[in-house]
Amino acid sequence: MEYSDDVDELKAYRICCDCVGETYLSAKIEKSDKRETCTYCESEDAPTISLEELSVEIAGAFDRHYEQTSTEPDGIEYAMSKEFGWSRHGDAVANVISEAAMIDGDPAEHVRLILEQENDDFERAQMGEEGPFDDDTHYQEAGIDDQDFAARWKAFEQSLKTETRFFNNNACAILDMLFEGIAGARGREGAPVIRTCGAGSDIAHLYRARVFQSEGMLKQAIKSPDTGMGPPPTQVATAGRMNARGISVFYGATDPECDCRSETSGWKPRGHRTLRFPASGAPAGRGGASESPCDGQHL
Ligand SMILES: [Zn+2]
Repeated sequence: MEYSDDVDELKAYRICCDCVGETYLSAKIEKSDKRETCTYCESEDAPTISLEELSVEIAGAFDRHYEQTSTEPDGIEYAMSKEFGWSRHGDAVANVISEAAMIDGDPAEHVRLILEQENDDFERAQMGEEGPFDDDTHYQEAGIDDQDFAARWKAFEQSLKTETRFFNNNACAILDMLFEGIAGARGREGAPVIRTCGAGSDIAHLYRARVFQSEGMLKQAIKSPDTGMGPPPTQVATAGRMNARGISVFYGATDPECDCRSETSGWKPRGHRTLRFPASGAPAGRGGASESPCDGQHL
């Protein structure tokens, strides 16, 4: 088939769900109520979207998951290129579009032409700089870049050590960035990252270990587990893994072994006992929750 070289005409081309292999995009096209003839496989009355719409989806995916690679070797690559030569990282943009959306070379090149025109920049072209969808622009999958986060975390630590500890706007901004949306966040397996404990949940009990130096103190704790085994009162709360001195946080575990190991690390017990009590309705008592790398969960 002879294709147009006019970008406006390319934008109006239709592509059907069978011509797009990428699951998310294909399912999206399948839901389209525009049943027309697919420009590429020529199947009639198929759910389709325009190439213009497809190019918007692809531009978004490029923004999120790909990075343009350097046109020249940098740093150590430059030195090595003299001896071994150099080839640019990544792959030409039309190939990357084709692989990412799992579409044939023709629609991939058409999407590229549409995006090239959309991203046309006169000044950039005058300076001879490469555009994001030029013919020879190369892309590679973006890695997880934690440089920015690592720098912010260092500033956060420094700020907590040397500046106001509990009323610190910078620290607050970093924690907001970290925990924003956590209430609805899900892990890789689709489970929510925040677990609700308590009667009726799959964590009906929590174990709480505490080291007692005397029989008397142990008996006292057994008599009043709410005060003896719950989060320590603020005035006696020592600094822990997740709390500063004076900030009361409840530590518990779903497994007695785990809790004992955690509570007694560096201390050789002559015998220890644990109390088990029903978890309250709150996620982890007042204060907060943490996890430790043992078999059970340390909450
Ligand atoms: Zn088709």
